Amino acid sequence: MSGWPLRRIVIAGGGTAGWMAAAAFAKTLGRFADITLVESDAIGTIGVGESTIPPIRTFNSVLGIDEAEFMRETQATFKLGIEFDNWAHEGDRYFHSFGTTGKDHWSAGFQHFWLNGRERGHEQPYDDYCIELKTAYAGKFAHLPDNGLNYAYQLDSTLYARFLRRLAEREGAVRQEGKIASVDKNNDGSRIVSLTLESGQRIEGDLFLDCTGFRALLVGALGAEFEDWSHWLPCDRAIAVQTESVGPPVPYTRAIAHDAGWRWRIPLQHRTGNGIVYCGKYLDDDAALLRLLGSLEGPTRTNPNFLRFKAGVRTQQWVGNCVAVGLSGGFMEPLESTSIHLIQRAVLRLIRMLPMAEVSDRDIAEFNDQHMQDMLQVRDFLILHYKATERRDGPFWQYVSGMEIPESLTQKIELFRETGRVFRRNEELFQENSWVQVMMGQGIMPRAYHPIAAKLTDEELNRFLSGIRDGILRTVATLPPHGVYVAQYCGERIPA
Ligand code: FAD
Repeated sequence: MSGWPLRRIVIAGGGTAGWMAAAAFAKTLGRFADITLVESDAIGTIGVGESTIPPIRTFNSVLGIDEAEFMRETQATFKLGIEFDNWAHEGDRYFHSFGTTGKDHWSAGFQHFWLNGRERGHEQPYDDYCIELKTAYAGKFAHLPDNGLNYAYQLDSTLYARFLRRLAEREGAVRQEGKIASVDKNNDGSRIVSLTLESGQRIEGDLFLDCTGFRALLVGALGAEFEDWSHWLPCDRAIAVQTESVGPPVPYTRAIAHDAGWRWRIPLQHRTGNGIVYCGKYLDDDAALLRLLGSLEGPTRTNPNFLRFKAGVRTQQWVGNCVAVGLSGGFMEPLESTSIHLIQRAVLRLIRMLPMAEVSDRDIAEFNDQHMQDMLQVRDFLILHYKATERRDGPFWQYVSGMEIPESLTQKIELFRETGRVFRRNEELFQENSWVQVMMGQGIMPRAYHPIAAKLTDEELNRFLSGIRDGILRTVATLPPHGVYVAQYCGERIPA
């Protein structure tokens, strides 16, 4: 490793993406590489991104992070899933949990047995068979053995970046304050040689990570093209505002649909994150702000943060000696809290594919292909929430419910509708449970179920179904309130 030619790794940008990359690179390569992160306090970060999904725990454990310390430092709460209000139709609500529902048979998912049970008079909702969901609605939480409750976190992203910065610097990463004024390329323009700061200082590197957010300064300079997905995901604006907590934090995020998009509510230990996502074509900023402010439960702590974006992806994340990580590589609205996860995937993938000697075109092609697969899978899952709805109130819902969708998603929806089957392909992020909960939640009910479900006798089916439900009820009854558990776990008081 001593003769490794890609020793100087330069990370441009110090938001969540930049510091996640810096911490992971410093932890794994700190002794072999010089890691420099350039960021500008004058520009700042996007300052949103509070809701995560369970794989973040893997990322944190790669970094050797102590969970209680991390939660204390980032004011995090536990998250068991997302509640979706008003999505299938106004007044409706469903829950997308991080767990599994019921028990699968090798030949058929639990939904087949539940559907068969309904025909035989079992009236209990599908939700009753999911421990994460029942725990979330009971407002409880505890760590259970064998990942008995699968969870993620709701956290303060600014504090998370600060926390990661300390880790990265401890492992040898160096932070350079300054505004990047130019991206300097080699003669044929295919690679970056250095970044020049406004101060005139030049920072040379062998490998560059573009974590400059929506500005995409580096990959933009190398000509990486942006593929626009806004015809499928037309929301293009958001307003975020933080409020004081008004009660104990619930262990889940809320996504509440309105007539031109949706609102989020994310409870942390010290405050609540709120925001409205909307399509500027159908709702103007003033009306969106009024709607957001009218929905808040506690006094505001911050001024409204107005954000603009476009759904889509860079067709090449990795160009020459530069890799886009985070918002610079593309963005899809935070409906399923996937952006931080996509950063994690890109960072860990890049470490796995780190160039041996020279940058290899094969590695680049493989990386870009795998990242695009991740993006496409998330994209389809998000589109599902808009397409499968009974809502027709107003032009926004009329548009999204009537739009043409990718064939990959049509296949998934129609297969489920006809047979109750869902398959996870190519290490897809969202597993069968996610698809089933969201498809049924959005009102897609299978017309059939696997014949194997009908083979159980009435008594066997009774025992199977009530065994699962009763077990869940018994366990949930023993769990402490979420807020109390977080406070004890972190060793601090949080508002009662
Ligand atoms: P940024 O935070 O914008 O950081 C960019 C960095 O580049 C900054 O440090 C900036 O100073 C630096 N920079 C830029 N230009 C220069 C320059 N010229 N010179 C020097 N430095 C420069 N994700 C989730 O996973 N969960 C969520 O709940 C979630 N909610 C979101 C809600 C909204 C409305 C939006 C828009 C996004 C949300 N995201 C969410 C996405 C999440 O915010 C981002 O993925 C995450 O914050 C990473 O951002 P970033 O680091 O790529 O960019």
